[in-house]
Amino acid sequence: MTTQYQRLNLTSLPAQLPAVLEAARQQQLSYEAFLEAALQVELDGRQDRAQQRRVRAARLPFAARLERFDFRFQPSVSERLMRELASLAFLQTATNVVWVGPPGVGKTHLACSLATAALDAGHSALFVTLRELGQQLAQPAPRGGLAVVRRYSQPTVLVLDEVGYSQLSADQAHGLFELITARYERRPTLVTSNLTFAEWGGLLGDDVLASALLDRLLHHAEVVAINGRSYRMRQRATGDGAAPPSGGREPGP
Ligand code: ADP
Ligand code: MG
Repeated sequence: MTTQYQRLNLTSLPAQLPAVLEAARQQQLSYEAFLEAALQVELDGRQDRAQQRRVRAARLPFAARLERFDFRFQPSVSERLMRELASLAFLQTATNVVWVGPPGVGKTHLACSLATAALDAGHSALFVTLRELGQQLAQPAPRGGLAVVRRYSQPTVLVLDEVGYSQLSADQAHGLFELITARYERRPTLVTSNLTFAEWGGLLGDDVLASALLDRLLHHAEVVAINGRSYRMRQRATGDGAAPPSGGREPGP
């Protein structure tokens, strides 16, 4: 038998009703105040679930937050700039951010932190590595190509991670170009890369296409070059409580 709650699609209130009733009795709420409290419980539940859906749909690899980034460990990253970006003005201006640096220096963490800030504020986000994007673009029609470009054009924030670990075919390179062009001046793209911009020609297999792509990507963009130590290696050195061996060599990029 469908209840009135089910027919109204009230999903949070039924489970919480005993607590809401109990609180209303204790506080001797008026009918108006009780109804308002009950409806608020339902609204809050809906908002929470919408938020959880958005977070799941974003497919971030880990729950990165700016507050958990140790700026003292990575002095080449401007804390002021990151905080300014996390205030989300970059959404309005569709300003891209490109982090360039060796592995382990926090590029993905910082990109995901901004995506998380956007999610917190109710925006959509989506994370993908260039390798995954390339694989999706290469699928046969109607799943690949333009459909993929459209899919990744839509989220308010796109994180394009690990640009540089895979070589793109001509079709994949054009797909990436279409995507950056579709988002250009509309929605920000957050890119992490171990490549210098001069190396993008090799990645795309086409210098002209690479410079056209970089032209759009970098027109309204913050570029953050990180040239510090790997945080992963630091964790390895101190993770088991043992001091790193004296005279041990510092892991390179
Ligand atoms: P990259 O993408 O540059 O290879 P990641 O962002 O994946 O590096 O960082 C590797 C790991 O180290 C992640 O778990 C990340 O949260 C952590 N990390 C990196 N830099 C910092 C930092 N400065 N403060 C705190 N955690 C960090
Ligand atoms: Mg990374």
